[in-house]
Amino acid sequence: METIVEARELRRTYRLDKVEVEALRGVNLAVAEGEFVAIVGASGSGKSTLLHILGLMDTPTSGEALFRGRGVTRMSDGERTKLRLRDIGFVFQTFNLLPTLTAFGNVEIALRLAGVSRSVRKEKAKELLEKVGVGHRLNHLPRELSGGERQRVAIARALANSPKLVLADEPTGNLDSAAGMAIAGLFHLLNKEKQTIMLVTHNREMTQQATRTLIMRDGQITDAL
Ligand code: ADP
Ligand code: MG
Repeated sequence: METIVEARELRRTYRLDKVEVEALRGVNLAVAEGEFVAIVGASGSGKSTLLHILGLMDTPTSGEALFRGRGVTRMSDGERTKLRLRDIGFVFQTFNLLPTLTAFGNVEIALRLAGVSRSVRKEKAKELLEKVGVGHRLNHLPRELSGGERQRVAIARALANSPKLVLADEPTGNLDSAAGMAIAGLFHLLNKEKQTIMLVTHNREMTQQATRTLIMRDGQITDAL
């Protein structure tokens, strides 16, 4: 299987005043097409930092991240934006929906940013929201949705442009256990449909469904379950 995303000796040091924090201390990994990789580890071990670099929202201090064999750190801003928009879907713990747009609008805007025509956007946004189980909530604003429903909308948005890779940072972290279980089931379903997924989680359902679980400790991947 083709490798989608790769990390080579990734390091990320944060500097706050005179204090340095080594959030990543040499991370190496390769994720193949179709994998469902779960990352676990204590708070502060560097999980979010790693996901943000792989999702092109941050750049490493040294080392390289590769997307389908291409180094991403030296790409132009334009290339990075295009890649992030079309090939990578990101799901956040706190959903990050636009509060003034409906469920439909939150998915539609992702399609619009990628240049999809109005008529196709309408069909596609509806289809995606139906797929993730909130087809009956198209015209609801985020504040009119439950946490689980918000996360479903966020997942529909992440899937909008048929990304090669879906990244998720503790997607069930703000949900009760029933809603968390349903979201875990949804990721499982997506992976069965061959979607490549890499996520950070503390949810047991999710690690059980993953094809591989990596453990992070002090900025490094220390083990695989
Ligand atoms: P995790 O997601 O595993 O909890 P993070 O990747 O968020 O860990 O953080 C790893 C380390 O980097 C922590 O010690 C954290 O305090 C530090 N850190 C994260 N983001 C920043 C930042 N923007 N500025 C300074 N330090 C940060
Ligand atoms: Mg985190």
